Amino acid sequence: MNIDYKSEIAALHDETIALRRDIHAHPELGFQEERTAALIEARLKELDIPVRRIAGTGIVGVLKGDKPGNTVMLRCELDALPITEDNDLPFCSKNPGVMHACGHDCHAAITAQIAKILAAHRSELPGTVVFMFQPDEEGAGAMPMIEGGALEDPRPNAILGLHVWSQYPFGKVAMCAGPMNASSYYFKITIHGKDTSGYEPEKGVSPISCAAHVLQAIDTMQAMEFNAVNEPTLITVGMIHAGNYMINIPDACEIQGSIRCLHEDEKRVHERFRALVVDICKSMRCTADVEIECGNTMLSNDEKLFEMGREVVTETLGPDAMLTKGVRGMGGDDLAEFFNEGIPGLYYMVGMGSPEKGTTVQHHNKDFLVDEDILDIALELQLKMAVRFLEEN
Ligand SMILES: [Zn+2]
Ligand SMILES: [Zn+2]
Repeated sequence: MNIDYKSEIAALHDETIALRRDIHAHPELGFQEERTAALIEARLKELDIPVRRIAGTGIVGVLKGDKPGNTVMLRCELDALPITEDNDLPFCSKNPGVMHACGHDCHAAITAQIAKILAAHRSELPGTVVFMFQPDEEGAGAMPMIEGGALEDPRPNAILGLHVWSQYPFGKVAMCAGPMNASSYYFKITIHGKDTSGYEPEKGVSPISCAAHVLQAIDTMQAMEFNAVNEPTLITVGMIHAGNYMINIPDACEIQGSIRCLHEDEKRVHERFRALVVDICKSMRCTADVEIECGNTMLSNDEKLFEMGREVVTETLGPDAMLTKGVRGMGGDDLAEFFNEGIPGLYYMVGMGSPEKGTTVQHHNKDFLVDEDILDIALELQLKMAVRFLEEN
């Protein structure tokens, strides 16, 4: 294909920034991305790209090139987070309590602009590009997209996903072959005891005292029962709720958290977790309900796509831009669900952290800031990878 990457991306620069700022100013929570979805939908239709809705606010646009070939899917996310923005920007969130604090506004804008560039090259496009705008990545929006047929008609031969990332230096690109992001399951334990007055504890059973033992047992289990090198496992508790009066012992205590595994034997971890909690509670004269729900499965990059991605990054940003060591992490992304449908995929993170610009704040924070200079770079990488895949396959 005859794409002049630098100049075609530069020509759209102001529009890319404006689109990202528009989405940033109007953040919406998972499955409520009505405005954002309508905005994207309208833009794709304007480009003469057929669009369908899935799972309410999910968008799939299919750009069929005039030349025959394979199908590549570019996946991005639409959702924001329940956070009140604490930045001083002219395009700050106008939706109180909701904020694009993960960079999904950037991904959606980048993907829409790639659609624009490729639509202008439709006559020389060797195959099909599917643009997927997914709702509720922060929850578990991938499965409803799959169940709604996002991976059919046409079925992609490869899926590409990127994430701008404040924790890597600006212009560095992190990716590896094989497992890169851990599976993440959410658990909720309800410990049932028996309520009583604080002055006669012997007449009841304290679920709070029991919870203390459960917490210790969980920490011991994750440190002692899994191979530290080959079975990275992380169990963390983020919420614990019980009682409403300081001199009473309540009936129940709820503990919620996540179980993350960067290995394939996650079922064994979940079963052991469940058994341990139930047994500890029994020994403390309580009973326990344990619910475990999938947030995302483990994300593993395809070897060939990784090699292709490495080539594109090295050509575009130089050999020093590639980070392959230390890029595996216990954080998850439900892009994994699409890969696990048997479609090779590549996920990579584009660093945008620069201390002097204040863009090294962790994602999901109220003062999370994007270095907008990364938009054109990330756009170029993703566009080139899509084109290269179609040209080479
Ligand atoms: Zn996030
Ligand atoms: Zn994210």
